[in-house]
Amino acid sequence: SEDVFKKVVAHCKEYGYVFQSSEIYDGLGAVYDYGQYGVELKNNIKKYWWDAMVLLHDNVVGLDSAIFMHPKVWEASGHLDAFSDPLIDNKDSKKRYRADVLIEEYLQKIEGKINKEIDKAKKRFGDAFNEEEFRSTNQRVLANQAKIDETHSRFVKALEDNNLTDLRQLIIDCDIACPVSGSRNWTEVRQFNLMFSTEMGSTAEGANTIYLRPETAQGIFVNYLNVQKTGRMKLPFGIAQIGKAFRNEIVARQFIFRMREFEQMEMQFFVQPGEEIKWFEYWKEARMKWHKALGFNDEDYRYHDHDKLAHYANAATDVEYQFPFGFKEVEGIHSRTDFDLSQHQKFSGKKIQYFDPERNESYVPYVVETSIGVDRMFLQVLSASYEEEVINEEKNDTRVVLKLPAPLAPVKLAVLPLVKKDGLPEKAKEIIKELRYSFNCQYDEKDSIGKRYRRQDAIGTPFCVTVDHDTMEDNTVTIRYRDTMEQERVKIQDLEKIIGKQVNL
Ligand code: ATP
Repeated sequence: SEDVFKKVVAHCKEYGYVFQSSEIYDGLGAVYDYGQYGVELKNNIKKYWWDAMVLLHDNVVGLDSAIFMHPKVWEASGHLDAFSDPLIDNKDSKKRYRADVLIEEYLQKIEGKINKEIDKAKKRFGDAFNEEEFRSTNQRVLANQAKIDETHSRFVKALEDNNLTDLRQLIIDCDIACPVSGSRNWTEVRQFNLMFSTEMGSTAEGANTIYLRPETAQGIFVNYLNVQKTGRMKLPFGIAQIGKAFRNEIVARQFIFRMREFEQMEMQFFVQPGEEIKWFEYWKEARMKWHKALGFNDEDYRYHDHDKLAHYANAATDVEYQFPFGFKEVEGIHSRTDFDLSQHQKFSGKKIQYFDPERNESYVPYVVETSIGVDRMFLQVLSASYEEEVINEEKNDTRVVLKLPAPLAPVKLAVLPLVKKDGLPEKAKEIIKELRYSFNCQYDEKDSIGKRYRRQDAIGTPFCVTVDHDTMEDNTVTIRYRDTMEQERVKIQDLEKIIGKQVNL
């Protein structure tokens, strides 16, 4: 629920995972910084992705292209013309909304009315209730359903025709009140481009407007020939990249779910024309497996196949996760045909093709892409890991624990001397010295051992090792497992193997 979401957000700040950008200046909207544990988790997510894509696939190679690109790139890709949101302002409240979101919310509201009607009838008729029959005969339900159908078809048409006048008229006809003041006084709808721009060059006259990339993919497309030629790559092959992207998002109120500066992990897979659907299905399955391999609830993942496709796509699906605020996109998998490479061929005047020795012909390859946001995945992982556990109801004993998959956990191992004397701290530090090249270790001697365990639970450390007086005699330690809180006596020399087995992928 929303409540859990609030707790996750608060936890992120309290334990050094995520801070608001420029917080001492009251923050900058929809921009965030990653703290001491956040940066480690983020790096581990990126490594988990990079290893699965680049190391485990012979035919996928990496790339790191620049954020700044030639302005023509965004003409060719269509971003300059079409990467925009339709915005509308309310003249009385002076609030700005996305026109499409207003209408979607309106449709949901009517849907809610229908559901209420059905719930009421269910209670009244009990087992005898037949929903289908009720929907097709109840006057109020029928009237509301007709409203939905009509609004929806006008909505889709206005979007398809990019008709902003109709979009505004629809908001007026639906009598959508401004959610804040109830006012119905709307401006025109304007298209608002999501790309940030700046100037490159030393003088204003000689300067060129350039854009911060809104996706990393274009850096891959414009390097297709470089990589294919120098790497002597044969189709099918992929290019993978992790990097920052920037979008001037308007509705940006969901913490790191929607940011103005964020990071993407994208892979473009180049295939023979005609083979794209086969590869789309391959990546669709492979990507879902990758998500589920983290070991969270399988039922919290689903596909959302698109039935309305962008003009250049011939298949598209999202991997959605059930966040505390509902099922939402984490990753997109798209079959983009030869759209991007053909556009760059046209705009650059350079031949961007593949010579296929088997077919003995040249052609523009087709592309299947997988695109996932690092930050959104970060939020997914934290939402899935956050738990409040009751340990002893009578004693009112609870703990907050991040059940992070061990390979992603920022700190793998905490080494804790039971007391601050008798050589135990030195012994603990010796253990860290041995293991620090294999795992991120943390030393902690402050407060009672119970308090220290809880602190490690809250940052998601999967293993705690306690050094006590017996350790000095027999070189054994107590290892405590985060999720079960079980404790075991083991030899110091076995620690690396025990921990390594769970931490290394
Ligand atoms: P949405 O519909 O949520 O705006 P999108 O369909 O525009 O997303 P894509 O352009 O397909 O997203 O981008 C691919 C991935 O990049 C998304 O699945 C998401 O994980 C991530 N992403 C996109 N925009 C943002 C953002 N503003 N903040 C954080 N992550 C983002």
